[in-house]
Amino acid sequence: MTPLDSPAGSMRLVGGDPCLDFVNTVGGRSTRVAGSTSGVVADKLAGYLDLLAWGRHTGQLSEAGARGLAMQAERRPREAAALVVRARALREAVYRLLLGALTDDRRPDPADLEILNAELAVARGQQRLAPGAGRLRWEWVQAGERLDSVLWPVSRAAAALLTSDDLSRLRQCAGDGCGWLFLDRSRNRSRQWCTMQDCGNVSKARRFRQRRHRR
Ligand SMILES: [Zn+2]
Repeated sequence: MTPLDSPAGSMRLVGGDPCLDFVNTVGGRSTRVAGSTSGVVADKLAGYLDLLAWGRHTGQLSEAGARGLAMQAERRPREAAALVVRARALREAVYRLLLGALTDDRRPDPADLEILNAELAVARGQQRLAPGAGRLRWEWVQAGERLDSVLWPVSRAAAALLTSDDLSRLRQCAGDGCGWLFLDRSRNRSRQWCTMQDCGNVSKARRFRQRRHRR
């Protein structure tokens, strides 16, 4: 399997944070209203291999790690399919929590917090300190063995972002039906679009003809 076999393995990585690039594994979102269903269009996470492709594409997984997990998924297809459902639930919970942060008077939905906290507990249970070059480093205990290991860095990154000052830089693309999230690191905090190519400088008519974020 190569990352390019999957749309999740070739998507544009514009979030500026791994958890945003995970939330952006959708072709687009049909609504920007906080609290509503997220209106996912053209989901890039159709199967477990898409998760692995995303992990390779974003550097969360090594080539050997992804290959090993792909072989395990082949042996345990039902578990792999269940994990995709779990991954999408995590993605949508994180999306809604982030949207809540964008409209800062909104209380987070306890159900979304529960989903993230549960994933976080799993991920944290898999981290341990190991010797590194001159100092200790974090490593994942069973990364190559467990199908859900691809989600561990996602929940860790989401928790880090949701508790960080960087949250003030969070923006949602202004493109119609896009819904992608990113951190605005421009000096005058004026970034409006996920990418100029997809949303920034295409005419409205052309945008309607094209499926958003096909890649
Ligand atoms: Zn966009």
